[in-house]
Amino acid sequence: MAVKINENYLLLKSNYIFAEIAQRIENYQTEHPQANIIKMGIGDVTKPLANAIIREFHNAVNEMSVNDTFHGYGPEQGYEFLINEIIKNDYKPRGIQLNESEVFISDGAKCDTGNIQEIFSLDNKVAVTDPVYPVYVDSNVMAGRTGPMSDDGRYQNLIYLPCTEENEFIPKLPSSNVDLIYLCYPNNPTGTTLNKEQLREWVDYAIDNKSIILFDAAYEAYIQEKNIPHSIYEINGAKEVAVEFRSFSKNAGFTGTRCAYTIVPEEIMGYDAQGQTHPLNYLWNRRQTTKFNGVSYPVQKAAMAVYSSEGKNEIKESISYYIKNSAIIRESLKSIGLNVYGGVNSPYIWIKTPKNMNSWDFFDLLLDKAYIVGTPGVGFGPSGEGYLRLTSFNTLENTKEAMNRISNLSF
Ligand code: PLP
Repeated sequence: MAVKINENYLLLKSNYIFAEIAQRIENYQTEHPQANIIKMGIGDVTKPLANAIIREFHNAVNEMSVNDTFHGYGPEQGYEFLINEIIKNDYKPRGIQLNESEVFISDGAKCDTGNIQEIFSLDNKVAVTDPVYPVYVDSNVMAGRTGPMSDDGRYQNLIYLPCTEENEFIPKLPSSNVDLIYLCYPNNPTGTTLNKEQLREWVDYAIDNKSIILFDAAYEAYIQEKNIPHSIYEINGAKEVAVEFRSFSKNAGFTGTRCAYTIVPEEIMGYDAQGQTHPLNYLWNRRQTTKFNGVSYPVQKAAMAVYSSEGKNEIKESISYYIKNSAIIRESLKSIGLNVYGGVNSPYIWIKTPKNMNSWDFFDLLLDKAYIVGTPGVGFGPSGEGYLRLTSFNTLENTKEAMNRISNLSF
């Protein structure tokens, strides 16, 4: 007998979208070595870590070299010093009470949003907004929850909640019962948000249907407008039905440093086949203590500095910088008649392609005529066809230069 593979992996789309984009850029640059390409595709920050963070990072690295302050394995769930700062700064001021045992520090929201599905049965019906951060879909494909993809680009057993111009990017509640619902707000890729009333509908749906919402708030720090919830727990009852994912990647530049956290409230329950309830907090704790050995001590110390007053100020400045870029992109593109969405509470701007071009054609046009790289909307799901995403994670100069180049094109 030969080793058998997990054949669900064969159901995945062949190329992760960013690999495809990287390939196209490489090919284009080889053929056009003079082209000064501005990359506005990948959602990665460009500003370095703040001074307050780097200082703590260095101090903690030095501690590791001294007998008395050396740290070996830490708690799998994260150090109390960081957990307490999270509760005190990110939740208490919004009237949300959390226990230390409800916060799980990790090395990324990507891992957590990808891994969380492991604690749920394969029978669950899963719903995703469409377009969507691909990790939610692909991790369920790998687990075997979705079945194969149909010709229309949709996995057969996944429920898609289209978010398009037609519904102003506000997903409609599912018409059939779903068990797990992935929501991400502010949204990647559309950059749009739900206000409290709109999010409340989802929490009420989950309560009524005994569903669970997996709420990804990786871009929470970009929220500028009032009445946009920073945490799903601002909505009454959400602690019984929602897991929340947060990350230091986009607020504090930890994309290469790696630190994030997930909130699994004690009250949230799942059911076994006999209808008995089981706390998800117990299951996630069990999963993490078995498969994860914690984030490094220096990284958690660095993350703690995010909550120092100096850290807070420096981070606020970086976010404002990116948000100003977002505004420049929005206004420039609007002024040449394009339909643009997002970018107000988000580093992402979602553009409707002109003349009903498809996403990849518009991608190629921007690359070829303006040397600008975006992300084709269709890479985020079938409802992303006909859109393209730009990000504000760039220098102000590059952002302005990119907008000048696009403004000189005629569509
Ligand atoms: N969630 C969303 C919606 C994202 O867009 C990203 C990264 O782009 C992540 C999670 C990943 O976050 P992390 O860097 O913490 O793994």
